[in-house]
Amino acid sequence: MMKNCLLSAVFLLLLGVACTSDPNPPDLLPVPTKSEGPYLKVLGIAQDGGYPHAACEKDCCVPAWGEPSRRKMVSCIAVIDPASGRNWMLDATPDFKDQQHLLKAETGQDLSGIFLTHAHIGHYTGLMQLGREVIGTDQVPVYAMPRMLDYLQTNGPWSQLVSLNNIALQPLHADSSVQLTPEIRVTPFRVPHRDEYSETVGYRIDGPDRSAIFIPDIDKWEKWDRSIDSLIGTVDHAFLDGTFFQNGEIVGRDMSEIPHPFIRESMGRFQSAGIDPERVVFIHFNHTNPVMQANSPERQEVRKAGFSVAEEGEVWPL
Ligand SMILES: [Zn+2]
Ligand SMILES: [Zn+2]
Ligand SMILES: [Zn+2]
Repeated sequence: MMKNCLLSAVFLLLLGVACTSDPNPPDLLPVPTKSEGPYLKVLGIAQDGGYPHAACEKDCCVPAWGEPSRRKMVSCIAVIDPASGRNWMLDATPDFKDQQHLLKAETGQDLSGIFLTHAHIGHYTGLMQLGREVIGTDQVPVYAMPRMLDYLQTNGPWSQLVSLNNIALQPLHADSSVQLTPEIRVTPFRVPHRDEYSETVGYRIDGPDRSAIFIPDIDKWEKWDRSIDSLIGTVDHAFLDGTFFQNGEIVGRDMSEIPHPFIRESMGRFQSAGIDPERVVFIHFNHTNPVMQANSPERQEVRKAGFSVAEEGEVWPL
């Protein structure tokens, strides 16, 4: 018995295979990887504070403090046109430098533009990397809604990016499309959120074959004057606010102050509405959200119901 185990251990070692069971076996559903035409690439999946989260010494973050490979970057999606190499980011996050590095490695080109959703720190502060202290870019197009544009123009350090022409502000109008290439179109739409400094938008991205929506932050589906159920029905991929898994997740804090649709709520709603779960990809996870942890019961619950949990590096064809 001992000898057999030893022999098989030697054999496995010769094959380059570790003689232990994989602590993180792959999820149940296949992860999309490559695409010939335009595609979306997930560059980050965490809520604004990232993962691990500043000052968190709880069970959720302890493993990631000790092991950098477990870290997750802040929620961001890239739109990539492989024919031209042109590439755009949806949001400029605190992890901008790593996300832009990945994009450049993938496309061989500098960033073609940035579309901002709103003025919460996880969604625009990456712009600071474009300034004189770092890259010193030349007129990178930054697309934003009127209040967001005004905020950038009238508050430092962002106003300096404008005055030094590091960025070139591009006004957006709700429900009005921007044509990025003959095949790719991006359309902002307003969503209800805590709008202290700017309005908040989600984006619809239309490609030659498929379409997607990206709503990283929204208060509650019921507070919106549009039906998320109908909207999902019009696209192939819906990247939706998955900040919290369920109520009570942040102990000692009134979660009504930071409203988001809980993943459990969204799943129940979408199931009742008969929505194809394969269209739904949850993203923008708070550090407390157990779906970020490989093989947690909550993650398995989401995957078994047919919904997806966004992963960094995933590719979704357009
Ligand atoms: Zn956010
Ligand atoms: Zn934590
Ligand atoms: Zn927000």
